[in-house]
Amino acid sequence: MPEFNKEIQKLKLALTSDCALRCRHCFIDKGLGLTMSFGDAARAVDLFLSSPGERKRLELYGGEPFLRYQLLKEIVAYARKANGKARKKLFITVATSAVPLDGEKLAWLRENGVGLAISFSGGREAHDHTRVFPGGAGSYGAVRRKSALAAEALAGKSLVALYCVHPQKAGTVLGDFKKVVKAGFRVVDVECVHGHGWTEESFALFRDGLEKVLRHIERGIRAGDFVFLETFLDMLVCSGSREKFSCPLYRDLELYPDGSYSLYPFGFVDYRRYIGRIRIGAARRGLRKRFRDCSFPSKACGSCVAGYYVIGGLSDGHAPYAYRTRRVEAFFKELLKKSSSDGRYFAYVKAVYGMVEAAYGG
Ligand code: SF4
Repeated sequence: MPEFNKEIQKLKLALTSDCALRCRHCFIDKGLGLTMSFGDAARAVDLFLSSPGERKRLELYGGEPFLRYQLLKEIVAYARKANGKARKKLFITVATSAVPLDGEKLAWLRENGVGLAISFSGGREAHDHTRVFPGGAGSYGAVRRKSALAAEALAGKSLVALYCVHPQKAGTVLGDFKKVVKAGFRVVDVECVHGHGWTEESFALFRDGLEKVLRHIERGIRAGDFVFLETFLDMLVCSGSREKFSCPLYRDLELYPDGSYSLYPFGFVDYRRYIGRIRIGAARRGLRKRFRDCSFPSKACGSCVAGYYVIGGLSDGHAPYAYRTRRVEAFFKELLKKSSSDGRYFAYVKAVYGMVEAAYGG
């Protein structure tokens, strides 16, 4: 396959629209009954691996990817095989609600060097505010149990909590963060729910909560009790590539289960209403000409998706999410600075580098 002309660092494959949960902030239409075909997944992986750049992150999610466990395993095997030729540093990870996890799946993840990310909001109240089963019962108990199982089975391996802050729960960020850590996670990805009405007030609470989380992490560094944010790892993986983030193909390319390419966060929009406007290509035909033929950097860059993120549900949540990224990155830069003169910070930063190397295989 000829090399694609723009770097795709991260590709997300949404294996299915089916899910065990009915999270209130998730707009994926569980009634669509869609499952990605293996052929579409393979074509997307080929495009991804043919793009420039050494470190590649393949994320499998859904819906619930473990509801298509056989397909998931086949895609992972295909990606590894295809990468035998492409020779990239490939990290594969699966994002799950944790509900379908069991000992066999966790052993498979461990044996195959596949990372795991579990959606978990720490406290029962925050978690059950959105993450419910069909019928409305909270999933906190089940997810807490499965998280403990995962923490034990994947000790020393890549395990991340996806802590997605809902604007109505922005006042309890520090408490929920601590509960996520108490459940056995050492790496946390702090995210922001999209499409659920962030206000000035909830945004201010979130900023305050995030600040407390950062101070909590720093106290841990001084005490030798390390907790990490996934943004730190992303920073190291993408270091020197900051300007490339302005190209949406660099980190935001997704393949939906129907074989459509789109840009993150596709799962937050009404599929039937917006699919025509969201789709930027298809696995079978490739990306649309405009995304295929453009080059980075060029005059078109910067405004190429100006009309994309005005679609309902895509833009709400962007402000706190962008703030989170800016603030966490500035914080990590402070840690890097301190690491040159303080052994405790040095040990912490070294551990972050170690996790990146372990994930991407050196
Ligand atoms: S026009 Fe857009 S998609 Fe194309 S290279 Fe520039 S930023 Fe990337």
